[in-house]
Amino acid sequence: MGTLVELIRTLRETCACLPEKRRGDNTRYAMVDFGMAAFSNFFMQCPSFLAHQRLLERGAGHGRSNCETLLEMTGIPCDNQIRTMLDPVEPAHFFPVFDAAFREMEKCGGLDTFRQLGGYIPIALDGTEYFCSNKISCRNCSTRERSGGKTEYFHSFLSATIVAPRHNRVMSLPPEFISPQDGNEKQDCESRAARRWLAAHGPRYANLDPIYLGDDLFSRQTICEAVQAVGGHFLFVCKPSSHPTIEEYLTGIELPELTKRVKHGRQRFTHTYRWLCDVPLRDGADAMTVNWLVIEIRNATGEVTYRNSFITDLPVDRDTVVELAACGRARWKIENESFNTLKTKGYNLEHNFGHGKQHLSAVLATLNLLAFAFHTVAELTYDLWLQAINKTGARGRFFERLRSITVFLVFPSWQNLLTILAFAHPPSQPP
Ligand SMILES: [Zn+2]
Repeated sequence: MGTLVELIRTLRETCACLPEKRRGDNTRYAMVDFGMAAFSNFFMQCPSFLAHQRLLERGAGHGRSNCETLLEMTGIPCDNQIRTMLDPVEPAHFFPVFDAAFREMEKCGGLDTFRQLGGYIPIALDGTEYFCSNKISCRNCSTRERSGGKTEYFHSFLSATIVAPRHNRVMSLPPEFISPQDGNEKQDCESRAARRWLAAHGPRYANLDPIYLGDDLFSRQTICEAVQAVGGHFLFVCKPSSHPTIEEYLTGIELPELTKRVKHGRQRFTHTYRWLCDVPLRDGADAMTVNWLVIEIRNATGEVTYRNSFITDLPVDRDTVVELAACGRARWKIENESFNTLKTKGYNLEHNFGHGKQHLSAVLATLNLLAFAFHTVAELTYDLWLQAINKTGARGRFFERLRSITVFLVFPSWQNLLTILAFAHPPSQPP
């Protein structure tokens, strides 16, 4: 239980130190309440959580609400005030809280289930768009031209997520926003954001022995070198069409091969692995050498159902190739378990809670990711949280119950609320 309360307190302390630019008569609430209020909607997975708590405070709660008891807020500002006060805040102010969540998970042994290949931690890097409009924009929007001369405004970020084959939990690390950079004429892009992320955060995660995973866009010498410069390893998708030099090396030679027969339910598959070490990544004398591997999956009729090739700086041989391919394939989890969950499973990442003129859109996306990270830590380290999820049968239903129960009642603590969700029996339905 300590973990969740500790994390909420850490976020609270961070919000209390946010720089404030007061406008008009916004003096009734402290910065901490604006930050925690925005976070609470995401953490409780309920866009109208604050509205319900205001009503509760005035009615059945007798002046108290769950904002006070569960999130340690001193008051509930209105939505417009929250937007105004958070707009000038840079999202990076919240990044240390991701590290706090990560350290809590590490301390409680939650990181062990992610370790691969004898101890490495896979971190998937991938970009995602979370806002798009041809009407609403701010000074940090990226732009693209659409047919008919229309300008489209959008926001995206590069996400870094700890993933692993064989289980569906993922852990978000601080994002890097893809937005126009000062002093740079060119539009910002995923590749540049990845290099900024590595420079800013890579050294802090070097002690994990990270393997960075990424799609074909990442398998370029500049990013591979940026990974190695911060003490990491890489395992990136490598499409034949974008790596002609590697393709040339592969032509006409017999590659080492390993075949495994695999059963999925009643279906039988053949997994074939091939590899080649010390191939130049590109043309030219300064090209770095990498190790290349491919996995091919055939069904019982011999038809290829999956094929993907990767490059890595880790040794590839008969003992490691199977696990390397499994790790490389775990990259899709950032799309499935992370982006899909954030966009469709209650976090409403793409829903426009407010755009602002400066950073609001990025601040809200950051708080949303942070809520996701807190939930993962709670699931991995907090038994009562997991018991409450198991009692309801599924994560989605757990949040539904959390939402509905906090509309009517004020709970003195998380311990109290989760104990009721985990152990209370619902009243029997009248016939
Ligand atoms: Zn914008």
